[in-house]
Amino acid sequence: MPADPLPEVLAAVARHWGFATLRPLQERAIRAVLAGRDSLVVLPTGGGKSLCFQAPAVVRGGLTVVVSPLIALMKDQVDGLARIGVPAVRIDSSLSAADKAAAAKAIRGGTARLVFTSPERLVNTDVCRFLRDHQVHTVAVDEAHCVSHWGHDFRPEYRQLARLREFFPDAAVHAYTATATERVRQDIAEQLHLTDPEVLVGNFDRPNLTYRVLPRVDALGQVREVIDRHPGDAGIVYCLRRADVDRMTSALRAGGYRAVAYHAGMTPEDRRAAQEAFAAEEADVVVATVAFGMGIDRSNVRYVAHAAMPKSVEHYQQETGRAGRDGLPSECVLLHSGADILTFKSVLEKSAAEANAAPEFLAAGLKHLDEMAGYCRGAVCRHRALVRYFGQEYDAPSCQACDLCLGDTTDVPDARVVAQKILSCVARVKEGFGVAHVLDVLRGADTAGVRGRGHHELSTYGLLKEVPKADLRDWVHQLIGQGVLEQAAGEYPVLKLNAASWEVMRGTRDIRLIRLARREKQSAAPGAAPGLPPGMDADLFEVLRQLRRQEAARAGVQPYQVFPDTVLAEMARGRPTTEDALRRISGVGEYRLQSFGGLFLKVIAAHCRKTGLTTDVPPPKAAAPLVLPPKPSPRRDEAYRLFRGGMSVADAAARMGLAPATVNEYLAEFVRAERPASIFAWVPEDVCERVAAAAEVHGTARLKPVFLELNGEVPYDHIRIVFAFLDGRNG
Ligand code: ADP
Ligand code: ZN
Repeated sequence: MPADPLPEVLAAVARHWGFATLRPLQERAIRAVLAGRDSLVVLPTGGGKSLCFQAPAVVRGGLTVVVSPLIALMKDQVDGLARIGVPAVRIDSSLSAADKAAAAKAIRGGTARLVFTSPERLVNTDVCRFLRDHQVHTVAVDEAHCVSHWGHDFRPEYRQLARLREFFPDAAVHAYTATATERVRQDIAEQLHLTDPEVLVGNFDRPNLTYRVLPRVDALGQVREVIDRHPGDAGIVYCLRRADVDRMTSALRAGGYRAVAYHAGMTPEDRRAAQEAFAAEEADVVVATVAFGMGIDRSNVRYVAHAAMPKSVEHYQQETGRAGRDGLPSECVLLHSGADILTFKSVLEKSAAEANAAPEFLAAGLKHLDEMAGYCRGAVCRHRALVRYFGQEYDAPSCQACDLCLGDTTDVPDARVVAQKILSCVARVKEGFGVAHVLDVLRGADTAGVRGRGHHELSTYGLLKEVPKADLRDWVHQLIGQGVLEQAAGEYPVLKLNAASWEVMRGTRDIRLIRLARREKQSAAPGAAPGLPPGMDADLFEVLRQLRRQEAARAGVQPYQVFPDTVLAEMARGRPTTEDALRRISGVGEYRLQSFGGLFLKVIAAHCRKTGLTTDVPPPKAAAPLVLPPKPSPRRDEAYRLFRGGMSVADAAARMGLAPATVNEYLAEFVRAERPASIFAWVPEDVCERVAAAAEVHGTARLKPVFLELNGEVPYDHIRIVFAFLDGRNG
């Protein structure tokens, strides 16, 4: 291998996947794979985990073995790789004898680069012994949280992977997961015996998702409101029980929606049919229990609606993560009620008793449940709350993408006084009663329960008479969610005060209370969906979607494997007429171009002729760079200082212990902000000239056209720096 194999990987990524750049974490993850160093990579769904092990596999000899929990998932991945010219095979129980022989032959002949298989096949089996003879240098464990008891999706067959090292002593082991708290992370590293792993944790925020949380008042009606905001788009509706799934599906179908059901109680054939209908875009809505999802990879899911609360924040993150994997704006609506918690509690207790589980097991389950309930009732920005749950900070004061920040809810005026009234009432009833009784006292209810205890004589009796009961109940739970009131665990969930309660009562601690919209605001309905390219022709987009569906059926693949939505949207905006123009679109690699390019060009041309639309519309000029001053960061200051002295990226990266990708970003910022007289310290003069000349033609809005213009000879990092220089000069 060359001294730095990364450029070769980048070329492969451009050729096969059509991506111009790696995301910063992908680069680091890929470097770990290339260096043969174990790694643990935690990236949210949609973060691009698969590229981390697939791209290096393409440029190396030998084999990468990928462990994956579901056959459907493997089949999808292998088919998808074939589409883009990456040789991969799978070995699983569903293969025919002929398929098996073909897979073995591809491995023996050295044509297969990736082998997908299930965990139980990889340890001490014939498959395992066969693979051992064929130079396995990398084992990638996908959905690695399945190995941990503490995760939310423990799978016993993953436990066998603890012996992986025994059978593949020379291979590096890499674990990938979308959801892992610190504890699960440690567990994964221990179970898989990772040696000094590179641990990479991505940013958990999904900025393209808008989160809304609503009390459930009419599940069907509320779910229909969500679907109606996204006509013709793909969506998933999660229900708690199988019976709810069946009921919801029938009701939606009766209402004319193209909905299919999916749950573990259906026959495998019915389940497969439902999954395929959804993947082939014959159905728009899948109504499912949580059993659905891991096997599906439709990147253009535009909404996920939960008709009931999930049982953990991890589940929620993973299920909502299926929305908007293509990065386009998508919506997540969660309906909940106190009944969901009770249902889950009894299910948990029952299954713990039946399985004779260790007490920690039940405790962990109840804790997950509590945290989820806290999220539903919290008055904290949803993006912030989710990101914090995974141990990260969220800096922006407002996300502009959740019910709380978008103003679906209203702040309660005098929240502090209201909170003080509620807390004093808890104190007056001597911390001996549950929510219902405290509400009765505050609202001045004339009941036997209140009178019998003399609570109608308390000073807090009737203090919040005018507040509707539902609101008052929300507020009590919001106080619990913010940690200033506690609810005892166990059979009698009485309300208790803590130190924080007294701070609120003394007025030394701030509190926020909100009044929820019982229904979503109509104003939330989208007109032109934000995030789609401005100037996109919506009719052409539809025409291309139809074409994609038809071509996918003909080629026996899934529509997203033809082209993702992002590519269709860009086609409908720029309306290219040549292969070259098509090639400039991010996500169009050589292989898909060969298979489908000509046909799409023909249809685009025909549509434009018919409607008189202009073609080959150049991309808009880069929006004026935001003039927000960067957040103060000692790291950036340090990088700037080194750049002022003319230090190279490699040296600065080594000095600061940062990934070159990160340092390159700093360098681009530096060049843009400080406008140095020359950038020849980082990009050779002749390269600067070539890039500048190409930018005259293609502009500086996007890197890929210039990269292609220069025959891929100039790395993206150099183009980015020159662009920054040109922008800085013009700006
Ligand atoms: P995950 O497995 O982490 O959920 P995927 O591997 O499915 O994520 O990738 C999510 C989406 O991001 C896919 O649509 C993929 O094509 C896209 N993607 C991945 N890496 C890149 C990249 N470097 N540049 C552009 N798009 C990317
Ligand atoms: Zn927010």
